[in-house]
Amino acid sequence: MARSFMTCTNCGGEDVQPAAVKSAFWHDDRLVVVEDIPALRCGACGEQFYDDNTVLVLDLMRGQGFAEGQASSHVSVPVFSFRDHVPGAGGS
Ligand SMILES: [Zn+2]
Repeated sequence: MARSFMTCTNCGGEDVQPAAVKSAFWHDDRLVVVEDIPALRCGACGEQFYDDNTVLVLDLMRGQGFAEGQASSHVSVPVFSFRDHVPGAGGS
């Protein structure tokens, strides 16, 4: 019982496994995606955790402003307006 495996701080689950994840960050009014982030992911609730060094590197990337020249690829993402989906808020 002395094993020091991680438990999920979100749900308390013990199925926390290393994973390479991608995450989206808002930087000013730009949305950027960072992939291949080493993380721990909870198999029960999907919560992702980064260790201190990973957070440091992400902060460094943010500090560099996610320079366009460093991007490995680009994606286009669909944009939705919440208002379009609120019943009664639209026109006809
Ligand atoms: Zn969890």
